[in-house]
Amino acid sequence: MAGVSGLATPWRLHAVLPRSLANGPGARYVVWSQGCTLACPGCFNPETHAGARPETGGGSPFRTVGEVTEAVLAEAAHLDGVTLTGGEPLEQPAAVAAFCAEITAGSGLGVIVLTGFTRREIEADPARTAAVAHADLVIAGRYNAGLRLARGLKGSANKEHWDRTGRYPAADLDAVPELEIVIGADATLTFTGMHEEKFA
Ligand code: SF4
Repeated sequence: MAGVSGLATPWRLHAVLPRSLANGPGARYVVWSQGCTLACPGCFNPETHAGARPETGGGSPFRTVGEVTEAVLAEAAHLDGVTLTGGEPLEQPAAVAAFCAEITAGSGLGVIVLTGFTRREIEADPARTAAVAHADLVIAGRYNAGLRLARGLKGSANKEHWDRTGRYPAADLDAVPELEIVIGADATLTFTGMHEEKFA
């Protein structure tokens, strides 16, 4: 288990979705980080770019790793895993590392990380490397609008399928729906998945 300091790590989030079928195989808890500086031309999530750090703005309040972990584990019996996306999850690597360590410690949940950093960039940086240490699968690399794909959890064809444990082979990802519409208890609609009409 990560220590208390790991659970207390602040984490700026854009949104969460407790159950999704369009962000990886099976039912998944989806966590969208707030903040991204990678500036991929044609990004379809610009509202997630404003800062992960208080001094750079951004509209979302911080939560702690412990709060998010508790919320996910409360749903664990109904989930296959967790998908971390954004924004850019690896621009808050300490929070992601602590969260993934907690989530994978005995819950049986799988972890998928969708990131704009390339595998080379991740492996060259100790903090980013630690952040994906407990991930089963990382979909890595900048979004390239000219190579748009929207299949297999890849927004564009150049993205790398970095299979770290064999839990999520590429064939399973091809079966993930491109678009999902979730109707909330308050009748709000959430659009999610790789389709370009999706929710952020
Ligand atoms: S890494 Fe993702 S969120 Fe960031 S600019 Fe690129 S596509 Fe957008």
